[in-house]
Order: sequence, then structure tokens, then C-alpha cells
Amino acid sequence: MNQNLFDTFARRMRERGDADFITTRQGKGYRHAEALAATERLAGALTALGVTPGDRVAVQVDKSPETILLYLATLRVGGVYLPLNTGYTGDEIHYFLADAEPALFVCRPEDVDKARSIAADTGCPQVATLGVQADGSLMEEAERATPRDDIVERDANDLAAILYTSGTTGRSKGAMLTHRNLGSNAATLVEAWQFSEQDRLIHALPIFHTHGLFVACNVTLMAGSSMLFLPKFDADVIFEEMPRGTVLMGVPTFYTRLVQDPRLTPDVTANMRLFVSGSAPLTAETHQEFEAKTGHAILERYGMTETNMNLSNPYDGERRAGTVGMPLPGVEYRITDRETGEPVPEGEIGMLQIRGPNVFVGYWRMPEKTREELLEDGFFITGDLAMVDERGYVHIVGRDKDLVISGGYNVYPKEVEQVIDELEGVHESAVIGLQHPDFGEGVTAVVVPEPGATLSEQQVLDFLQGQLAKFKQPKRVFFADSLPRNTMGKVQKNQLRDKYQDTYR
Ligand code: ATP
Ligand code: MG
Repeated sequence: MNQNLFDTFARRMRERGDADFITTRQGKGYRHAEALAATERLAGALTALGVTPGDRVAVQVDKSPETILLYLATLRVGGVYLPLNTGYTGDEIHYFLADAEPALFVCRPEDVDKARSIAADTGCPQVATLGVQADGSLMEEAERATPRDDIVERDANDLAAILYTSGTTGRSKGAMLTHRNLGSNAATLVEAWQFSEQDRLIHALPIFHTHGLFVACNVTLMAGSSMLFLPKFDADVIFEEMPRGTVLMGVPTFYTRLVQDPRLTPDVTANMRLFVSGSAPLTAETHQEFEAKTGHAILERYGMTETNMNLSNPYDGERRAGTVGMPLPGVEYRITDRETGEPVPEGEIGMLQIRGPNVFVGYWRMPEKTREELLEDGFFITGDLAMVDERGYVHIVGRDKDLVISGGYNVYPKEVEQVIDELEGVHESAVIGLQHPDFGEGVTAVVVPEPGATLSEQQVLDFLQGQLAKFKQPKRVFFADSLPRNTMGKVQKNQLRDKYQDTYR
């Protein structure tokens, strides 16, 4: 049997026929059968452009329904889809093309000159363009080329995609994902979150990241449901569309913005059945406020580029604020000592490791790194610190790389941030470790005050007295208008560490 993930999708698309697949606010889009036919034409274009099975197709374009068709057509011809963050600059694209050696680079029409020169430099043989109006050379080629209605035979272990990690802790790494990785996770999520043909997903995430691409689109395809494609998150549009939607998938910043909005009511969310959050920690406060205002408990889940989704709060059952729930069916986890790698007792913090059919097969052209993080027994070291509570809910405590070790003691930034955030006038905070001559690292807080609030360093320090052990208390507190975040809402602690690096030196 052909284990190409697209084979499963194609069967669903045929069954769903005239039902909507992707729609836009401009009334454009594709029904399932139309999308399927479009992938045949695009597959013809990819073949004409020289893409053969196993070839990478690198894509840096703005979000549009056609981008998803390109992803599907790449699978159809047995290629390896490689999406790139739309924010990457020329130098970054140069790195990724040199690293991935794609057979084709699809870029925005306006970037074509730059793209051609980077492609020439890095030995990429073909460049095509795709714009948000379905314009550009790729769609033209698709009209000219002979359509391909076959689906190239693939093994479950063949690569379907290479997805670069977000680069939060260092240089992005290319995670090699197989047809099994993506297919198993999509099937699991359809079940776990009870997706059906009746669902209409409000899609406001970028589609170069695992959340918006694989979680959102693969689940929609597998379930035969539909999605409303929005270029980006815009609260006005979300409020207009919720009465016609059933599911929203968001990063925590979506929800922090929605809860601040007076339009968030039980009425406006009455047609919605599910709100999912992930990619960064959702605060318990936002979770509780959202539930108080709508009656909906946000379902927080945990995943990463390398593994798709691992842990999820239950669909039926309590969704515990501040936790990421339990392992999805087929996924195993263990929490181990940072130093020894031995499992820690329940309730203690350690390194989170994951095993399952969803776990990637390695980092592209980084055998050393792969060996370090992907253990022989199949567990993957996530780099996140976690603990499991008495009811089996997993709490993500932070990243191992963000752990502060001050005077030989471990300080978990999240614990300190949570206390700081309780102080009146604090909007949010980030705690980092900075090189310190006596302590190794000095605990340091960056605080964002509420608009109009006036706070002093001393006030914050006084507030923490007695609430936290001395070694956890920041030695310095800085103020900022906002925390640096990437498009997925992840706080960029590297940038803060760089900015304040000389504080104690
Ligand atoms: P890099 O690996 O390049 O440093 P990254 O880890 O941010 O970047 P992604 O794969 O996009 O790249 O993000 C996965 C990470 O996001 C997880 O390891 C975890 O730290 C964080 N994350 C995802 N979901 C949650 C969640 N619900 N709560 C807390 N953290 C989360
Ligand atoms: Mg990571």
C-alpha cells in the first residue's frame, strides 16, 4: 500500500467532493474536490520544474490557499516540503538553501531577483514565484503543464517535510519528518480533539510553522473539515467570524488579546466548540479569565517542530489551567534528572523526553546533534523542563537552556515570573540568568508594567521578600515596554540576555 500521507488526504478530499476545504474572507477558496484537482496541476508544474521524489521544495511565500496546495502537490510527487519563515532575510534564506539544497525554491513574486541570485549562489537549480492572488510563475506553469493524477509511492519512513525549528535557543535546525510522523499525529489529533466534517477551523496562524501547517491543516484534511484562511490574527475579524466557526487554534498572544476585549462574551463564542492554545506557555490567569468570560476552557497542548504534538489536555474532562495535560494516545514520556538521565520521582522537575510514532528521524545534516538528542531507545530529549502533578497533568516549567543556576542553586524562571506577575501594576515579566562574578549567574528580572502604572525596582524587590527564597530573588530588575517575541509569541530570552549581559561584569 502506498504510505504517502497524501494518499490518505486525497481519499478524504474525493469523499468530501463539493464541501468547502479552504475559504477566504474575499470569497475565494477551494472545495475539497477542486483542491484535489489543483494539486494534480501543481504536481505537473513541480515535475516540469524538475522536482523528483526525495527532492526538497523550499517555500517562502505569504499565506494563501495556494500555499497549502503547493504543500500537497509536493507530497503527491514524493517531494519533501520545506517551508521557511516569511520574516527571514536574504542572508538567512542563503543559509537555509545552502543547508537544504532544494531542487526548487518558491518565493514571493516581489522577491524573485534576490531569490534568483541566492539560488545561483547556493546551487538551487530552479526558482518559481507564488503570490497571494494566486499570481506568479508557479500557477502559470500549473496551467501549462500536463496534470499528474498519480500519487508517488512512498514508504512510511520516507521524508515528507523538513521543518526548521524556531531558533529560540540557537540556530534553527532542520527536523526531518516522515509520512508516518505527520500521518500518525494528524490521526491522533482528529480523535483526541473530536474533529469532524462539520468543523470549520478559524485559521489565523502562519503556515511555515508546525502549529499552523501540520496541526491545523493536516487535521482539517484528515477529518474532511474546512478552514477559513486569514492572513494573520486580527481581533476584529475573529469576533466577526466566531459565529460561523467551530474551532480556533492560537498561540497564547491570541488569547491574551481576546480576553482584554469587551466583545468576548458567551454569545459571540456560542457556535465555537474548541479553543486550542500552544507553541508557548498560556498563563493560568488567561485560561481562567477566558473561561470566566465565555464558559470555554481553552485546551492547552504541548508540541514542537521535532515531534508534532505530544501532550494535550483532555477534550472530555478537566482542562487544567497552567498545564499541558497528558500524553496523546501512542505517545510516551518520561521526566529525567538533568545530570544523570535517570527518571525523577513524581512531582519533581526534570528533563522531558518523548517517544512515539510522531518523533522525527533526525536533524537534517546534523548527525552529532541527532545522536545527542535522539536516544537509542527512541526517546527524544525535548530540552524542556517539566513535572507531573498528582493527577497526571504535565506542567512545562521552562526550557533547560533558560534555567538559571545561581550560587549552585537551580532557579526556575517561571516560578519567579509567576510571583512577580502577581504584583499590582505588573503586566508581565521575564526572568533570565546573567553572568555574575560571585554567583555564576545572577537572577535578573525584566518587567513590563501595565499601561500607566509606575513601578520601581525597589518595589518589585520588596514585594518578593518573604515570598521567594533569597537565592531566587532577582539581583536586578529592569523595566521594558514589551518583551521581545517572535511570530509564534515565544519570548526571545536570548535577546534579553544579550541586552543585559554586562549587568554584573
Ligand atoms: P529552537 O528549537 O530552534 O530553539 P523552538 O524550540 O522555539 O526553537 P519550536 O519547535 O517552534 O522551536 O517550539 C517548540 C517549543 O515551544 C517547545 O520545546 C516548548 O519550549 C515550547 N512550547 C510549545 N508548546 C508549549 C506549551 N503549551 N507550553 C509551554 N511551552 C510550549
Ligand atoms: Mg526547540
